[in-house]
Amino acid sequence: MSEHYDIIVVGAGPSGSTAARFAVEGGTKVLLIERKRDIGIPVRCAEGVSEKPLREFIEPQSSFIRNYISRVRLFAPNDIPVVLTPLNSGYILDRRVFDRKLAEIAAEKGAEIITSCTAIEIEKQSDGTVDLLMFHRGREIKANCKIIIGADGVESRVGRWFGLETVTTIHNTEGALEYVITHPNINRKFCDFYFGAEIAPGGYLWVFPGEENTASVGLGCAGDKLVRNSLRNLLNKFIDRKYPGAKIISEVAGGIPVQATLKEIIADNLMLVGDAARQVNPMTGAGIINGMIGGKIAGETASNAINNGSWKREDFVGYQEKWHKRIGTDHQKFFKMKEVINRFSDNSLNKIADTINSLPEDERTLRKVFMTALFKHPTLLGELRHLF
Ligand SMILES: Cc1cc2nc3c(=O)[nH]c(=O)nc-3n(C[C@H](O)[C@H](O)[C@H](O)COP(=O)(O)OP(=O)(O)OC[C@H]3O[C@@H](n4cnc5c(N)ncnc54)[C@H](O)[C@@H]3O)c2cc1C
Repeated sequence: MSEHYDIIVVGAGPSGSTAARFAVEGGTKVLLIERKRDIGIPVRCAEGVSEKPLREFIEPQSSFIRNYISRVRLFAPNDIPVVLTPLNSGYILDRRVFDRKLAEIAAEKGAEIITSCTAIEIEKQSDGTVDLLMFHRGREIKANCKIIIGADGVESRVGRWFGLETVTTIHNTEGALEYVITHPNINRKFCDFYFGAEIAPGGYLWVFPGEENTASVGLGCAGDKLVRNSLRNLLNKFIDRKYPGAKIISEVAGGIPVQATLKEIIADNLMLVGDAARQVNPMTGAGIINGMIGGKIAGETASNAINNGSWKREDFVGYQEKWHKRIGTDHQKFFKMKEVINRFSDNSLNKIADTINSLPEDERTLRKVFMTALFKHPTLLGELRHLF
């Protein structure tokens, strides 16, 4: 490891490795550090992504894909499924391999990578650069850089070191618990989503099929709804009902920030990306591709700033603007929609499912589901009118 870098990226998840890759492609000297010993392990994710945006970054390869999915079913609280029109196809990834592959690409392009290395503090220097203090294999080390890209995930601390407001309320943090199970009844063709106050209060439950007879079955619920319902009780209840006798192969728990992107994701010497910037889709909790998009824009912006010789907040405004133009503004709408949808009673959700099921299958789009929901609750139209 050298003592001076142009850019240090903290966190080698999908956002960080992508930021490092695009920063280095712009001709800069980049260090990517990761707290874990092995990039991608343990996995805290259901690993679902859409095919089209994934291809913007990497050609899908069998080494990191567990399953190809083109159909989605939404289950109403009364267990009646709505089979949606096939639209965008997607993949269930193997993130242990995928995350590592993204880091390998960054390394092949020229980024230096250190694992088992935790960022612990920054010290701003009088020459406008920053020293990053790290803990690596039992000792403190230090490196100097001009720009830090904070890609340190949902528990991010880097933003706070630079004075950004990063606190997420308990309501906007979904607690998530997931098992990988084996069971003969798993249908590999469908990604299934279950809704209802008794199933996943303030969120939803998913069944994402992976290899033959295996699936990730998990649920994310609004933090403030979990006082009386423990995630484990809810998940066990569901599995006993739908997949009795299932064998649990692994278990992951984590938090998902389901809010709009932070108001400020830039500061002098700093850009935040991915979960650290709250770039997750607040309706679905999906953050892999969004983080990679944020990472790409931030990496390019960082290398431009280095090449132009200035790394102050104003040099990063383009990143913030491009992010909002491409995705962030939509997320503000999705956040409001999520709040409205979470107010639907189980009875309403059952009725919406009935209405959608009365349509021919090729008209059962997500948009139609949402519009049907609104017309069943005309008072909500007023609240959401300004979004469209
Ligand atoms: C149960 C669950 C299921 C999910 N399912 C899906 C899904 O199906 N599809 C989807 O798109 N999204 C899903 N998500 C969300 C998705 O996992 C995240 O949005 C995505 O991982 C964000 O990528 P990231 O690179 O920003 O952060 P992360 O992947 O969290 O990576 C951050 C990295 O930073 C490292 N780090 C943290 N602090 C430091 C430090 N101080 N120093 C050095 N390294 C540090 C961490 O070890 C970690 O490797 C799910 C999340 C959960 C919890």
